[in-house]
Amino acid sequence: MKYIVVTGGVLSGIGKGIIASSTAMILKSMGLRVTSIKIDPYLNIDAGTMSPFEHGEVFVLDDGGEVDLDLGNYERFLDVNLGRDNNITTGKIYNLVIEKERKGQYLGKTVQVVPHITEEIQNWIERVAHLPVDGDKVTPDVCVIELGGTVGDIESMPFTEALRQFQFRVGIENFCLMHVSLVPVLGVVGEQKTKPSQQSIRELRSLGLSPDFCLCRSTQPLTEETKKKISLFCHVAPDNVIGVHDVSNIYRVPILLNQQNLPNLVLRRLQLTPNIDLSKTS
Ligand code: ADP
Repeated sequence: MKYIVVTGGVLSGIGKGIIASSTAMILKSMGLRVTSIKIDPYLNIDAGTMSPFEHGEVFVLDDGGEVDLDLGNYERFLDVNLGRDNNITTGKIYNLVIEKERKGQYLGKTVQVVPHITEEIQNWIERVAHLPVDGDKVTPDVCVIELGGTVGDIESMPFTEALRQFQFRVGIENFCLMHVSLVPVLGVVGEQKTKPSQQSIRELRSLGLSPDFCLCRSTQPLTEETKKKISLFCHVAPDNVIGVHDVSNIYRVPILLNQQNLPNLVLRRLQLTPNIDLSKTS
């Protein structure tokens, strides 16, 4: 099983969900079986009790799970059927750990965020990643995990720590990290600014996670100069700095990623072989 983790920096609503589902969709089009997990670091058990004015659409899954709308994107992009367990929330993890504690399953130990909460997060991810999602009951090859919120938030700390540990549990060759950040343009200067990306990647690294790819959201396409600067200052390979500018239709995002060779770079990073002959496709 290969894992692709998508994190986001600078601000929320930066497009992690669209980038995660686009990447998953391209890998699926290469003949790989892809599943996905959305992590929402809030204390609600699920999105069912949250105001749509504050939270947006609540997506209802076939098993009745009321989840974040990103799960809807995954189902639409990937043509798969996900279950309620594909959405992990802080509420679900704490609930599980507290129930185990009440049953005495920790055998008198002091129950702590590290290792008990972080262990449970990793167990959950590993269990759900192996569940078949496309009707023919075959275990997926790749699991795309989107970590909601912004890197550095107090809420997401147990998850970033769990993911830090997880890269060693599953092996570094099976774990690829994509970080989505923002490249704003200051009106008066008219220059694409890389500092927010530098700072959010520094924050991510301080938590023990080093991104393999930096995906930069911007209003206009990234200039070559901006890409080079991000590569230099953020310690991400030049080819692995990918621009994802605003597009008129979100279904254009996979095309943008494809044009910048992201799928092949991800396959190489994860030592994955596509199940179709790419030379025969245009
Ligand atoms: P996040 O997962 O980071 O909260 P989403 O993926 O849900 O962000 O995207 C937030 C909003 O931005 C959505 O309405 C989505 O359709 C839109 N969006 C994301 N990427 C792009 C893009 N490249 N161009 C235009 N709109 C986008």
